[in-house]
Amino acid sequence: MDCLFCKIVSGEVPSYKIYEDDAVYAFLDIYPTSEGHTIVLPKKHSMRFTEMSEAEVSSLFASVSKVARAVEEALDVPGSNIGLNNGEVAGQSVPHVHVHIIPRRVNDKGGS
Ligand code: 5GP
Repeated sequence: MDCLFCKIVSGEVPSYKIYEDDAVYAFLDIYPTSEGHTIVLPKKHSMRFTEMSEAEVSSLFASVSKVARAVEEALDVPGSNIGLNNGEVAGQSVPHVHVHIIPRRVNDKGGS
């Protein structure tokens, strides 16, 4: 399958890995919104979040929680934006489900 994020998971496209287990892969975003901007994705390809089963969603977000805690601790930031774009019309540019973890700092002017 010609999917950029599947190629990142397989190592065919290089990435800066943050975390990996049997089900998920996490890496730094190449165009970070803030320092430490991390993407967490399920290794199993689904185009859209709303195509995933409840079990897959639970597993993904358990990992997102773990990775977000680790990112916040490692960077010593007080919070982060955690979210995803579901579908092209919503701003999803890579058609493989992924969750953004965007570290936030006090007065960083990063928006809402
Ligand atoms: P989306 O816009 O689909 O919600 O998020 C896709 C994200 O993937 C963007 O923030 C973009 O910067 C990131 N991205 C796109 N191509 C690559 C790549 O080749 N490597 C990495 N590390 N990130 C990428």
